Amino acid sequence: MRKKHLEDFIYDPKWQSPEIIYGEDLISKVIRPGEKYAVATMEIPWNLVRDKLNKKPEKIIFVSDMHKETVEKLEKSVPQIDLVIGIGGGSSHDMAKHIALRKQCRLVQVPTIFSSDASVTNGIGIRKNGKVKYIGHVFIDQILMDFSLFEKAPKELVRLGAGDILSSHIALHDWKTASRSGFDKMNSRAYDKAKQLLLRLKKSRYEIRNVTEKGIKTILEIYLEYARIANQSGTDRAQEGSEHFFAYAVEYLTKRQIVHGQLLAAGIAVMAYLQDNAFEETLSLMEDMGIDYRLQKIGLSKDAFAEVLLFLEEFVQEGGYYYSVINEKKIDSAVVKNLFEILS
Ligand SMILES: [Zn+2]
Repeated sequence: MRKKHLEDFIYDPKWQSPEIIYGEDLISKVIRPGEKYAVATMEIPWNLVRDKLNKKPEKIIFVSDMHKETVEKLEKSVPQIDLVIGIGGGSSHDMAKHIALRKQCRLVQVPTIFSSDASVTNGIGIRKNGKVKYIGHVFIDQILMDFSLFEKAPKELVRLGAGDILSSHIALHDWKTASRSGFDKMNSRAYDKAKQLLLRLKKSRYEIRNVTEKGIKTILEIYLEYARIANQSGTDRAQEGSEHFFAYAVEYLTKRQIVHGQLLAAGIAVMAYLQDNAFEETLSLMEDMGIDYRLQKIGLSKDAFAEVLLFLEEFVQEGGYYYSVINEKKIDSAVVKNLFEILS
């Protein structure tokens, strides 16, 4: 029996990995006989798969953004279905999760890029009043990994998937800071497991740069391990820290939609510096993976960057985000100036 998707964002200590299916042109095979289905996608990924489907979907949802109002309006236009397939990157997968939750139907995710780990995680990232909010706990039935789809994607958008893994380098440091200052409890089992995953990422850095099948598989497998860690330890501390809060603040202030992994790359660079946490090594690891962390890549001018950094402390306090380096480090205009020079 399929598990019922839950409205509330929760951690599931009994978390089990979705079934992972590897292979080319299997998309029609994931649709079971008699199943009515809808698709959440974007134009580019949809054009890659549309001719491979031998049965027409009841509805195709093209995702424009993940604002609460948009998501709810789009979901309402979907008829009752048995299956929803998310095809593309993070927004397609989050939209598919939202449809699955409302229709209580089976969910299959088909990543064609890795802009974030949304194809694997159970929570749904939506935007409410410009701020990121996670809702729901959705059970993904299957993830279809078709390397031929990744091959057609811009390499950059696959490599950036490493952002939601390298974020752990910053997040673990923040977790230590919080536990030292009495704001959170450390879970050393989760901490040690995450450290090992970071070593695995480092070992695979050239596979990721070259977007080989092994590199793509490694990203997916590490995502799954982080999902397991979060569900078992009851916190996202091992993977989400100040680099994510930086990303959320940039989105909030600029009101622009920027690829999640790209925001994280800049956030990781900024926070490794503020944490004094293997800064040079972290930058060279990103360079080895072919990830461009410069602030220009997320369209931040010197003034906009200063605005974000000087607003960060207020932003995390108001948003109730985890205690991190942002709460402890004094960020003044000299720090901002210095960082902007290094990261442009
Ligand atoms: Zn993320």
